[in-house]
Amino acid sequence: MIDKTDEIVTINSGIELDQVRFGQRASSLSKLTSLGLPIPDSMALSANLVSAIHAKKTLPKLLESKLRNCIYCMRSSPISRSWGGVEAILYLGMNHKTVEKLTYKVGRHRAIQLYFNFIKTFSAAVFDLDPEIFETLIDQELKLFNVISEQDLPSNAYEELSIRFLDKFRKELGFSFPSDIVEQVNYALISMAKAWYTPSSKLLRSSLHAPDNAGMGIILQEMIISSRTPDSGIGSIQGVDTILGTKGLYGYFNSFKYSDKSFENLFKTSHSIVDTNSSRGKDELPKLEDYPNAINELKSYDKICFLNFGKNLRFDFLLDEGKLWIVDCCVAKLSSLALINITVQAVQGGLLSKEDALLAIDPYSLADNLHAQIDRRSEVDVFGSGLPASPGAATGKIVFSAEDAVQAKAQGADVILVRQETSPDDIRGMYSTVGVFTMRGGMTSHAAVVARGLGLPCIVSVKGVKINVRSKTLKVSDGRQFNEGDLITIDGTSGQVLSGAAQLIQPDMSRSFIILMDWADEIRQLKVKANADTPEDATVAKKFNADGIGLCRTEHMFFEKARIMVMQRMILAKDYRERSQEIEKLLPMQKKDFSEIFGIMKGSPVTIRLLDLPLHEFLTNSKMGLKELAREMNISASEVIDRSKNLHEINPMLGKRGVRSGLLLPELYKMQVQAIFEAVADAFKKEPSEVIVPEIMIPLVSATKEVEYLKESIEAVAKNVRDYTQVNVSYKLGVMIETPRAALIAGELAELSSFLNFGTNDLTQMTYGVSRDDSGGFMREYVAKNIYEEDPFHSLDEVGVGELLKIAITRGRASNKKIKLGICGEHGGDPASIKFCGNLGFDYVSCSPYRVPIARLAAAQATLLANRKIKFDNNLSSSDSNASILI
Ligand code: PEP
Ligand code: MG
Repeated sequence: MIDKTDEIVTINSGIELDQVRFGQRASSLSKLTSLGLPIPDSMALSANLVSAIHAKKTLPKLLESKLRNCIYCMRSSPISRSWGGVEAILYLGMNHKTVEKLTYKVGRHRAIQLYFNFIKTFSAAVFDLDPEIFETLIDQELKLFNVISEQDLPSNAYEELSIRFLDKFRKELGFSFPSDIVEQVNYALISMAKAWYTPSSKLLRSSLHAPDNAGMGIILQEMIISSRTPDSGIGSIQGVDTILGTKGLYGYFNSFKYSDKSFENLFKTSHSIVDTNSSRGKDELPKLEDYPNAINELKSYDKICFLNFGKNLRFDFLLDEGKLWIVDCCVAKLSSLALINITVQAVQGGLLSKEDALLAIDPYSLADNLHAQIDRRSEVDVFGSGLPASPGAATGKIVFSAEDAVQAKAQGADVILVRQETSPDDIRGMYSTVGVFTMRGGMTSHAAVVARGLGLPCIVSVKGVKINVRSKTLKVSDGRQFNEGDLITIDGTSGQVLSGAAQLIQPDMSRSFIILMDWADEIRQLKVKANADTPEDATVAKKFNADGIGLCRTEHMFFEKARIMVMQRMILAKDYRERSQEIEKLLPMQKKDFSEIFGIMKGSPVTIRLLDLPLHEFLTNSKMGLKELAREMNISASEVIDRSKNLHEINPMLGKRGVRSGLLLPELYKMQVQAIFEAVADAFKKEPSEVIVPEIMIPLVSATKEVEYLKESIEAVAKNVRDYTQVNVSYKLGVMIETPRAALIAGELAELSSFLNFGTNDLTQMTYGVSRDDSGGFMREYVAKNIYEEDPFHSLDEVGVGELLKIAITRGRASNKKIKLGICGEHGGDPASIKFCGNLGFDYVSCSPYRVPIARLAAAQATLLANRKIKFDNNLSSSDSNASILI
């Protein structure tokens, strides 16, 4: 293997190298050479070869014969760049002889300076020698020559230093510094391979979702040692602006005439190229604009690459005596706004198909167009991080309670609510904030779900920070302390908490964004509905063109202070009479909401879920809350506590939730369906042409009988309403599949229903036996260690939960051919889960209103990818049949 010829290949041969064999960098560079871009001569070593070098510590003899008498740099070429890489090793091949040779081109001083730098960096990178050892020698030399900076040392000082360095090296390591190019390359290879396979690198990669056996190729590229004439320099450039996508050359250029910088230091010191036509003062340093040929060449390379890859690249280049070399490239980092603008323009300019454009955009990145973002070009001070539960960024003053949030908002302040975790008691507070972060929780816990619904940035399970609600302080593990009123910024997109006010970029639903969304709608087959609980949510859903409401969580309609009291009194009622009184008060509230929502949705389907009341979420624990409730109910606080204790459940998420409380307190669901039917009848009387057929959904079902009982009682209410309104209301009845048992008996449930809607938050919780509220405590570690590939509350687990979905779909469809299938857990807004559901033949997904655009694009991608796969499979089978004819 080590000396197999096809494991070491020339990049410049014009043949495109396979990314899986040679890594992404090598593959990209080979593509550039095939397009005629000037790349210095380079060789690629395959990932298999690098792995063999690491395992056997044997080096390829073959490489020796391929090495030329020149200076090389060695760069890593991981199979995917997103897995990180290993630092490059530069100037391989430097020794006394090359110093002599280089002297002709770059002068004695620079040649010896390069050699000296090489010994220093090579010893540290390859032999782990402490750079301090060399620094002491340099300090001595600086004193001797009475200069402050290394740059000011004369040539003879560098010569002297080089000798002393080599001496020191021998003493420290017991052998001489390798001077031969073959030796240097071999040492560098072993060290790079070793660095890739260290346990800490593997751990880091696994946190970046790289597979355990992630491979890395290596590139050996000839270095152009510039003579540094005035028409020389280095730069890094792309053909579009990062933020807006405006065309032009953007990046940095550093003329060698004035400085001596490597690419690594480039960004700190060099000129910004913001506009090739910009004017400047006479006294400024040379800019790339001084080299029009180079500019034209770079522009043409940018165009060629876009035409071939459908992407804008960023080029690292070198200008040597006016000749341009491209030494490296990667995909240009662009904001979502920029990428959408460029992509839409490319389609309009005939450079890209609509299909390719839709596939080129990461659906998640659309969130940047809907929420404010941190301007990543500015400096930020991160002091904590957690799970990014709801995207967007916001700056505000810290408050530690919902009451303080409401008060501060009334005084006009923007506030961020910091809590251990949130409960319905905090909802009013959440309405008054610009963002929320909690110490506990997971991707589907209370704070996460509510914030997503409100479009607020939210981070849960924040680490490195301790909250003290009493003293209203936030202590950071680095010793810092934040007090109530201090300004912080939260970035719900990355999960970072920042000190002070960070620079924000405001969201922009640009014209290009709307065009792209229209294209997605033309193509997608999955309907995208919204999880909208209130008229406000419904308005957002409509704005984002949702195909209806797929989940209206009616319990969320009672979070307003006046309403939650009625709900609490209903829950704590001592008898039927007391309870009925409270339920009667709830009826007009519900009816008003339903009427408003029907009005906003203008005939689009609306799925209303009957109450799913985790009791612990509605019963207050706070002293203040208890006192207030006692006053309201006209009983003592201890009576309230006693009644609450009677209802206490050890595991409320698996207690009297969902349909169970609906069956045990039948008047509750009766009131709800009565409110729905009356709202429909009212709407009909106002506008007989618009017939509303509400979809009523039963939550947390685990037995067929539950549905049978309710079906009967709902029809009885419908009949009654028809009688007294004289409107022939009709409706559809559906069941939520949220328990593994419901998935298994989906055949029976489908016989009783018009639709099955998968509540994958609870289904995931119950399939894994992992609490959706507490998983944040260990989820990151589980994912980092690759025990779970992904947080299953974030992206649907296709293997386990997915299998239950498949079983339920097959059984459901077998007993009811017309059954409609949807998903409304948080996965309904996750692109990977949407693609999975699309493949399973779902009719719709439903997600938080702010995720609707993301889901629309992901649904279009699901359709496109499925169509491409069918085409690909057809091609394969047709070529197979040709083959059989030939044989
Ligand atoms: C679910 O469980 O997936 C669901 C949609 O219901 P909720 O999140 O309200 O429990
Ligand atoms: Mg649920």
